[in-house]
Amino acid sequence: MSARTEDGVIIGLEIHVQLNKLHSKLFCSCGLDYHNAPPNTHTCPVCLGLPGSLPVLNRSAVKSAIKVALAMNCKILPQTQFYRKNYYYPDLPKGFQVTQYDYPISVNGYLAIEGDEGRGVRRIRINRVHMEEDPGRLVHEGTIDRSKFTLVDYNRAGVPLLEIVTEPDLRSPKEARRFLNKLRNILEYLDVFDGDLDGAIRVDANISLAGGERAEVKNISSYKGAERALSFEIVRQRNVLRRGEVVVQETRHFDELRGVTVSMRTKETEHDYRYFPEPDLVPMRVMDWVPAIKETLPELPEAQRTRFLKDYGITGTHATSLTLDPKLAQFFEDVSAAIDPKLSASWIVDVLKGELNYRDLGVSAFKTADMIEILGLFSDGVVTEKGAITVIRTILDEGGTPGGIVSEKELAKVKEDVVTSAVDEVLSECTDAIDDYRRGEAKALNYLVGQVMKKTRGRADPQDARTGLIERLDSNES
Ligand SMILES: [Zn+2]
Repeated sequence: MSARTEDGVIIGLEIHVQLNKLHSKLFCSCGLDYHNAPPNTHTCPVCLGLPGSLPVLNRSAVKSAIKVALAMNCKILPQTQFYRKNYYYPDLPKGFQVTQYDYPISVNGYLAIEGDEGRGVRRIRINRVHMEEDPGRLVHEGTIDRSKFTLVDYNRAGVPLLEIVTEPDLRSPKEARRFLNKLRNILEYLDVFDGDLDGAIRVDANISLAGGERAEVKNISSYKGAERALSFEIVRQRNVLRRGEVVVQETRHFDELRGVTVSMRTKETEHDYRYFPEPDLVPMRVMDWVPAIKETLPELPEAQRTRFLKDYGITGTHATSLTLDPKLAQFFEDVSAAIDPKLSASWIVDVLKGELNYRDLGVSAFKTADMIEILGLFSDGVVTEKGAITVIRTILDEGGTPGGIVSEKELAKVKEDVVTSAVDEVLSECTDAIDDYRRGEAKALNYLVGQVMKKTRGRADPQDARTGLIERLDSNES
């Protein structure tokens, strides 16, 4: 049976990922911390391609590449080599890009993703993960098709890149996005990649429908962009076929703003690049490194999720959410050392994460010790749920310590007698609601609880208020 779906959508991805957590470029010692630096300040004769300069391979980059390849279940090749890919472009000062061709560092891996509904888990084959250098960057003054002039910045030239090539195994734009999300998740766990940095990931997507040639959409710069570009292409190609015309093989550009793809050129063949082995770099034999690198591989998100379910008994939703971010997962484990894991997971995922996202902050903005203290106060009944949330918000907005905030803002839960007198007051004031309650209107009780909370400025435990109200209402019944 064919692997095609009814629509016959076939998608393959080529993903360029910067190993942007390394200290230096692939063939020279220029730093990668250029993101806020003026143009052309992170350059040297090697990455500017000046005559006579020679590349020196960054050993850490090779190790990171092996890590990624192993995490993607790839086979590391015993001998691997760099090639020159020859073409002229202003962002490429040498007139060639050093990349891999025959003998890439790794081949034949896979990544399992959740398929579209009803399709179960799908294994997406990886053709290869290989290493190459990033070109520089063109800065167009104006738009790409109507710029007054173009400047070039070589700060990015020579940044270590991985090219990850999938087989054409993806069947929908949603699957492609899920694949990219999973890839990013793994790269972040490996600590080789910061996906938030500009240019950290670029995707080329090949897409075809049954009965048509494939189009390649170049340089999509976000996960969401990939899904949108592919969705657009499906509609476009379907319309071409419907009109009885032919989908031609071509390269297209995704216009992020308009959400459309535009034709750039008909596809050139690989031979145009005249690949040949880079004479300034000897072939590498890295097999001896592999066992030691395997040892240093961290627990990957999938394995960690399974362990969280087993060891902590938290819900699948919480486990998934926590393992989307290695830092958040670590935070959870640290808090859980002191606090009941289910309570921790629920507060971290359902409350803290939302508060952090709202402020565009990462979990490193919150201290583990503070979370432990807050959840301790909550478990001991010192503060209500509402009070605990106020403490979290105050720490994020104004700083301070949980204990300090509780006393400053008078958040400590009120004593039982205060709740009792608030209940008395409410019952003497809200006779209409009492009548409603007696007529069996459930909403009336909620209203009365709300009134008690108001009187105690949120410091009563809503459950205490509810119990107190019911006791009084039911005992007064005649
Ligand atoms: Zn350099």
